[in-house]
Amino acid sequence: MKIMAINAGSSSLKFQLFNMPSETVIIKGIFERIGFETPEMIYTIDGKKTKEKVSIFNHGDAVDLLIHLLLSNHLIEDLSEIKAIGHRVAQGGSYFKSATVIDDFVVGKIEELAEFAPLHNPASVQGIQAFMGKMPDALSVAVFDTAFHQTMAPETYLYPIPYEFFQKYNIRKFGFHGTNHHYVSKEAARILNSRIENMKVISCHLGNGVSICAIDHGKSVNTSMGFTPLAGLMMGTRSGTVDPSIVPYMMEKTRTDIHGILSILNKKSGFLGISGISNDYRDVEEAAKWGHERAQLALKMFLSRIREYIGAYVAFMDGVDAIIFTGGIGENSAVVRNDILSNMTYLGVRIDKDLNNRNAISIHQPDSKVKLLVIPANEELMIAREAWCISERQTVAEFK
Ligand code: ADP
Repeated sequence: MKIMAINAGSSSLKFQLFNMPSETVIIKGIFERIGFETPEMIYTIDGKKTKEKVSIFNHGDAVDLLIHLLLSNHLIEDLSEIKAIGHRVAQGGSYFKSATVIDDFVVGKIEELAEFAPLHNPASVQGIQAFMGKMPDALSVAVFDTAFHQTMAPETYLYPIPYEFFQKYNIRKFGFHGTNHHYVSKEAARILNSRIENMKVISCHLGNGVSICAIDHGKSVNTSMGFTPLAGLMMGTRSGTVDPSIVPYMMEKTRTDIHGILSILNKKSGFLGISGISNDYRDVEEAAKWGHERAQLALKMFLSRIREYIGAYVAFMDGVDAIIFTGGIGENSAVVRNDILSNMTYLGVRIDKDLNNRNAISIHQPDSKVKLLVIPANEELMIAREAWCISERQTVAEFK
């Protein structure tokens, strides 16, 4: 049976078609610059990558072209072979606690929740509606970035501000990257031949966006992002958590309005803001090597905050069995993992530097009390699993 995983942005549409339950990828790709002058389609079949300029004007056109691509390459003979389509949705609020079959009511709810994710939720709705229009017989499933964190306790997800702000406006910590934190924690249990229900895990998602999640017995109990993905750790262009009193002070000093300051915190801070060079970790690391002092400072700030959160979450869960690294930086930078893990002997963390340098999956020494894992992010696979399980009426826990 075939399941499609979709991640729609305002001008892009990422897709991946899986054979389930074998989880083999049939095709993956992306439509870029939808709605702009020169849209492109990039896709990979059997390891062969193709890039084409395409004439499409909206997400519906992209879906038409995708269907044509599937049929003309004989990846499917008939649309009915695609049983379900899983859509990534950034914000499910407090309402969606797990993946959900999409109907008109659910679309309405996702639209309503756009006030918490003004850039992302409307784009997801565009993608959902495009597929529902062109492939009405496939089951549509929404997989929410926030849903995995719905297991946090009120004392964790509430902010210590007057309670009415939660009651009236639902101001609380939601957390993001949940689909990947969920995926890598399950992978960790599989790799360690253990049961996630018996483990305490800290998952470090280090990409352009950065978040850390404490997972106790398979449930998210705390995470670094908050009401929005601006909170928590230092990121490519985002500041992470800062003292909120800085905001009016910055406004006053620079005569900038609140939108301008928020734009600085979201788009001009983090690696970019401190190094003055780039939002991209590799550029900053390269400059640091050549002695660029602010690049060196940016790296130190990045690493020290990650250690701070890991320490906090070990205390929060009263222990940790495994620490996972995922996301572009977490998966690829042996330097980052080594710097974070080398001085955690008090926890019984013992990194194997050789395995770490080789980007192996398990990078701990045999006697390390805490297992250390490098697991590539794979949100698309988790989305496909959720959609497949719903179409088979299984829970994901039963499946893997
Ligand atoms: P996103 O959060 O947008 O999905 P990614 O997970 O792809 O982003 O992560 C992007 C980050 O990963 C960038 O800062 C990039 O420099 C870093 N990165 C990618 N490849 C490597 C590598 N080989 N070594 C170190 N960092 C890397």
